[in-house]
Amino acid sequence: MLGRARLVIGGLWLLAIASLAAQQPAAPDWNKLRPEILQHYRSIVQIDSTAGNETKVVEYLKKVLEAEGIPTKTFALDPKRANLVARLKGNGSKRPLLILAHTDVVGVQKEKWPVDPFGAVMKDGYVWGRGSKDDKPVLTANLITMLMLKRSGVPLDRDIIFLAESGEEADPYGVGINFMVKEHFDEIDAEFAMTEGGGADIQNGRVARVNIGTAEKVPARVRLVATGMAGHGSVPRLDNPLIHLGAAVQKVGMWQTPMRLNETTRSYFQKLSEISAPDRAAIYKALLEQKSTDEAQKFLREHSPGEYSMLRTSVVPTMLKAGVGANVIPSEAEATLDIRALPDENVQAFYAEMAKVINDPAVRIEPIPQTRPPSPASKLGTEMYQAMERVAKAIYPGATVIPSMSTGASDMAQLRAKGIQSYGIGPASTESDALNYPAHGDVERLAESSLYPFVQYVWTVVTEVAGH
Ligand SMILES: [Zn+2]
Repeated sequence: MLGRARLVIGGLWLLAIASLAAQQPAAPDWNKLRPEILQHYRSIVQIDSTAGNETKVVEYLKKVLEAEGIPTKTFALDPKRANLVARLKGNGSKRPLLILAHTDVVGVQKEKWPVDPFGAVMKDGYVWGRGSKDDKPVLTANLITMLMLKRSGVPLDRDIIFLAESGEEADPYGVGINFMVKEHFDEIDAEFAMTEGGGADIQNGRVARVNIGTAEKVPARVRLVATGMAGHGSVPRLDNPLIHLGAAVQKVGMWQTPMRLNETTRSYFQKLSEISAPDRAAIYKALLEQKSTDEAQKFLREHSPGEYSMLRTSVVPTMLKAGVGANVIPSEAEATLDIRALPDENVQAFYAEMAKVINDPAVRIEPIPQTRPPSPASKLGTEMYQAMERVAKAIYPGATVIPSMSTGASDMAQLRAKGIQSYGIGPASTESDALNYPAHGDVERLAESSLYPFVQYVWTVVTEVAGH
């Protein structure tokens, strides 16, 4: 029985391989590659690359790429925080594809970790370590993709540009993407880019949903400054800045800013309405029909603030600063508002609208200079997006593919601002893992079983979009 079963499976495999070979270059033997993928991934996680140590990762990548015959270039504003670029040449008939990942990780509090945060310890089916999710799976997948493309000698229509960049997490000096875009843009200029900013959800043991990041909100923070006369705390004054500021913060904090859908969020809520339980689906349908959205918006505001934020430019008070003593009325009080604008928002007009909501001449709005440029959403109809969707469905059978808009900001902002259609990816995790072991969390880990299909996903997308 066993022998026969093997024969049948073997026959099916042969058929599958034969039909694939007719269309595209031979795929690597992914099972055989596992040890090599895991070795590179663990080695990279084992490098403590908190801000200021990114060059250590660059040295590792340079050695691996050059041993394979792939030339590299490094670019550094700060020698300890270098960026690395490697390029596989295509025939030039199509514009390049950029695959990038950041090398830095956020810091750790060692005492919170059950294992060495830079040990890449393997335990319970997971690889544990800072950066195991953010962003070393993408870095590893990009590296393996370069190695496999080089080894197979696949002819390419596009150049593949590999970028390992520093300073994504903390970059007050612009050593990473800002430096590369400003000083060396010709080295990374591409039609498409792919990097962190998407992901996939595992439900009941299989990948049910793949998110492709196509847009992100634009930081547009401001300070609210209230001014009045200073005075003695024993004498109530109507122009006390704290009273005016407090009222303004209350108004903008509760303000339901106008709701608006774009191509990404419309498609996002449409797909969710098709796969959600009836109650939830009704809420998404109400948003899409735009008739009576009040109830739906109210529900999301209470139960799904992330989705509520995707519908609008959001205003969130985050800091207050006022006062010098318990018996002193200060002459100034200040609040910081973290405003995240929709990609197509007219920010100046939005501030003017907010001034009307505050409706108090004692309070002025002072925009805070932003480190990321406004970035238009990337399109869903491109060759790249379509390939990502197709490949996701092939690698994660039965999964729904959903474009998503991040409420946060990423290094794709700088690329999109330069006209590069940029898409976010990420390995799959369960909801409980995403909650308990998130990127930037006290403890970070990735299921080993999520790593391999993710690498395969990246290689397949790149091969489909850039292969001849
Ligand atoms: Zn990251």
